[in-house]
Amino acid sequence: MLAKLPRGEVDLESPEADTVNVICDAATWQAFLKAHNLPSTYAAITDWMGERIFIGDVAIKHSTLLPKVVKHELEHLRCRCSLGEAPIQ
Ligand SMILES: [Zn+2]
Repeated sequence: MLAKLPRGEVDLESPEADTVNVICDAATWQAFLKAHNLPSTYAAITDWMGERIFIGDVAIKHSTLLPKVVKHELEHLRCRCSLGEAPIQ
């Protein structure tokens, strides 16, 4: 499933991700987080070294949350850092 973002919600100067993976199924997303020892509350994660963004079911299902989540994940790519969060394992 591809999600369309509202125009103007994402800074055009943002770095590009090589891949954006969307996991629409809640159970699959939770299994993905668990496999990487990440909190079950995460809406999305970014592997900034691999330039990959993974977006979970909750962010996809809430149109007001999605742009905020994408902005946050792009910030990981911009700074190439964890922003103080746990890295993908
Ligand atoms: Zn983050």
